Amino acid sequence: MSTVSEVTKDTKHRPYNFSAGPGALPEAVLLEAQSEMLDWHGTGLSVMEMSHRSKDFAQIAEEAEADLRELLNVPAQYKVLFLQGGASGQFAAIPMNLLAGKDRADYLVTGFWSQKAYEEAQKYCKANLVASGQSGHFQSVPEPDSWRLSKGAAYFHYTDNETIHGVEFPFVPEVTCPLVVDLSSNILAKPIDVSRYALIYAGAQKNFGPAGLTLVIVHEDYLGRALPNTPSIFDYTAQAANDSMVNTPPTYGWYIAGLTFKWLKKLGGLKEMEKLNIAKAKILYDAIDGTRHFENRVAKECRSLMNVPFFIKTEVLEKQPELEKRFLDEAKKARLLTLAGHRSVGGMRASIYNAMTREGVQALADFILQFDESIK
Ligand SMILES: *Cc1c(COP(=O)(O)O)cnc(C)c1O
Repeated sequence: MSTVSEVTKDTKHRPYNFSAGPGALPEAVLLEAQSEMLDWHGTGLSVMEMSHRSKDFAQIAEEAEADLRELLNVPAQYKVLFLQGGASGQFAAIPMNLLAGKDRADYLVTGFWSQKAYEEAQKYCKANLVASGQSGHFQSVPEPDSWRLSKGAAYFHYTDNETIHGVEFPFVPEVTCPLVVDLSSNILAKPIDVSRYALIYAGAQKNFGPAGLTLVIVHEDYLGRALPNTPSIFDYTAQAANDSMVNTPPTYGWYIAGLTFKWLKKLGGLKEMEKLNIAKAKILYDAIDGTRHFENRVAKECRSLMNVPFFIKTEVLEKQPELEKRFLDEAKKARLLTLAGHRSVGGMRASIYNAMTREGVQALADFILQFDESIK
């Protein structure tokens, strides 16, 4: 069986992609997929053309799950599901599966995505807003002292890394009810303690695969309790009983995710990844903090390792409103792509997921410093 590392690397010709999602994938993974595109392991078939019930796909699926379990150190009492519907599908699936006769759940809002999860949950239950970072423009995690937890909550939901606002939790919330986390934009960026959670979910397209695949890791204690009108494809119990194949799963995404898991293992696993990610983020934040005209507004202890929003200071932009566009145009010419901030917040944002190399981050840091010098 070929491995990711055997594929020759040629990074010279591709630009650096700072897209927030779908985000960059490791080049070694793309090259491996390319080399197997027409003929997976001598079968004469592309993975895209295989039956999900075939022996060959079963091997791909099982290896991906085994590698993921190893990387995240997932305890045996947890089911790993490979689903569709995106993280947004889980905003609904979570209350449908976890309410289990209760009428309320707690939601902590620290940015755009946790707000969306909170709003969707209101269709199914009394979603209690524990606290919101909105009045502080989502630049930090509200102090746990200020959280208003409800009695009898079925679960507590939070978003560990806010992809748009660049706010990442520096701690795991301490609550007495089951803990549910959206890890869409920082899963596999660092080790986590899975046993702290009732449920972990993540869309693949930020940090480990193509759009269309959604990962759910759920403790078996929370199975068997879905609302009766839960669609089968969103019913964790049904999916767990059918190896995530209640219907045709996103086979190609599952395969690419599997290649990414092998790539991560080869690099030394999540401890190594975390070291690399800390080093990369430091290069970028140091550069931004070292300029006269740029700023990142997130409280230092909550700065995301993965998504770095940055702005030209308001007083500078007021006098020279054309600077943002000039920055993005010149960055593109320098082969630094997809740096525009989310439409809801503006400014710039660099997403530096696992697949972004240190060289890429250094190139961006150098570019920011150079651009800063050029501002009169
Ligand atoms: C992108 C993102 C989502 C939404 O993902 P979809 O797969 O588009 O539904 C939810 N949460 C976080 C943290 C995200 O980054």
